[in-house]
Amino acid sequence: MKSPAAGEAFFDIHEECGICGVYGHPEAPNLTYLGLHALQHRGQEGGGICSSDGKTLYLEKSMGLVAEIFTDKRLKRLPGYLSIGHNRYSTAGGSSLKNVQPLLARFAMGSVAIAHNGNLVNAGELREKLENEGAIFQSNADSEVIIHLTAHKKGDSFKERLIQALQEVAGAYSLLVLREKELIAVRDPWGVRPLSLGRFDGAFVIASETCAFDLIGAEYIRDIEPGEMVVINEEGLSSIPALNSRKRAFCIFEFIYFARPDSYIFGGINVNAVRKDLGRQLAREAPVEADLVIPVPDSGMPAALGYAEESGIPFDLGLIRNHYVGRTFIEPKQSIRHFGVKIKLNPVREILRNRRVVVVDDSIVRGTTSKKIVKMLRELGGAREIHMRISSPRTIGPCFYGIDTPTRKELIASSHMVEEIRKYITAESLSYLSIEGIRACVPNPDDYCYACFTNEYPISFPGEHLQQLDLFLA
Ligand code: AMP
Repeated sequence: MKSPAAGEAFFDIHEECGICGVYGHPEAPNLTYLGLHALQHRGQEGGGICSSDGKTLYLEKSMGLVAEIFTDKRLKRLPGYLSIGHNRYSTAGGSSLKNVQPLLARFAMGSVAIAHNGNLVNAGELREKLENEGAIFQSNADSEVIIHLTAHKKGDSFKERLIQALQEVAGAYSLLVLREKELIAVRDPWGVRPLSLGRFDGAFVIASETCAFDLIGAEYIRDIEPGEMVVINEEGLSSIPALNSRKRAFCIFEFIYFARPDSYIFGGINVNAVRKDLGRQLAREAPVEADLVIPVPDSGMPAALGYAEESGIPFDLGLIRNHYVGRTFIEPKQSIRHFGVKIKLNPVREILRNRRVVVVDDSIVRGTTSKKIVKMLRELGGAREIHMRISSPRTIGPCFYGIDTPTRKELIASSHMVEEIRKYITAESLSYLSIEGIRACVPNPDDYCYACFTNEYPISFPGEHLQQLDLFLA
């Protein structure tokens, strides 16, 4: 196989996803559907559910939102007492049904379906090796590497083979694997992406975030630990310390932006509480005289509340969001994205006119959103002063572990100082939260990955992946 040329990748590397699985319930596929619905924020491009009645695996997947994909008819085609599901989020290049998960394969040991959240950093080289050995890949999803690797291993049991396969992969994976009579959950040894275990009506439920449990009515039991494999079958639940323990690298961006505020992740920490603390910390680090604090909805909401509480400046909803448009970030074309801000947000003139406004958002990526918002607040809203406050540090590095961020050169803060960014977005002032500030808002701050803010990547890119680094850091 040829090496990837500049601008070309073996895999669609950006994968933000949500996964949910149920074992031991006559309505397992329906419960999985509900779980996926609660996890819709983690991926809106496509989704699927694979179920088993103990003999056969059934798969339904499609592009679109969970509620659109799973009609009554479709859910009826999914029998069984165990199932896994997946919501996919992808950028340009990987948008096709073949990449929508669960991925289903049949090999010597029976059928296997896989749902993966995260991104493998050595998938390219593993794929090349497997293809040279004769493997035929069906998708561009890096997750398929895990299936092929498992099929190539020689262990006695499926579990052994899967562990051997996972010992070869590096990167982020919260994984659900379905076999005819068994549900397996694994979390990578760094614990990059969240994965939680719950119980409902005698059944086991596993999901990316606990907001999925809430909708189902399941009780949160604990997290799947980094490096842990949980196997659920007729004998009950067993836990295997499958992968050598590594230094923790929980993704800090889950707290900043990605996870839902009502979820409890990374050892049962409430996302909203952390986000509010980020806002409070921001108010202490970057105070300003103003009349009003407003959030950029929805992502800036909890941090804006925290900022208002700490500063004593009144909070109001100066920007109204239209909830019926997708996240503008998904749009692949720059021209559409500019338009996207307008289509999504509208200022409330009554609140803003002639006021000095603190605007709180969770992050600046390319700077496009902030620039449009400032312009809108001033020109349409009539605001007198606009002070932008960001509840995370400057985003200077792309994520290789599953958060969708553009290449480094597109990240405005990778090449511009704060004052230059302030000028670009045309705000009266601009401040970001410090690294120390963000560390102060989470327990055990050394357990987190801050690579997007520091360029210090906790999971190294082996061998040939320096090439991939070059490709995407260019
Ligand atoms: P930008 O216009 O590129 O600076 O994007 C900044 C906006 O994108 C902020 O309002 C963030 O809430 C949002 N954002 C940040 N990271 C992501 C992401 N990975 N996916 C979708 N939206 C994001």
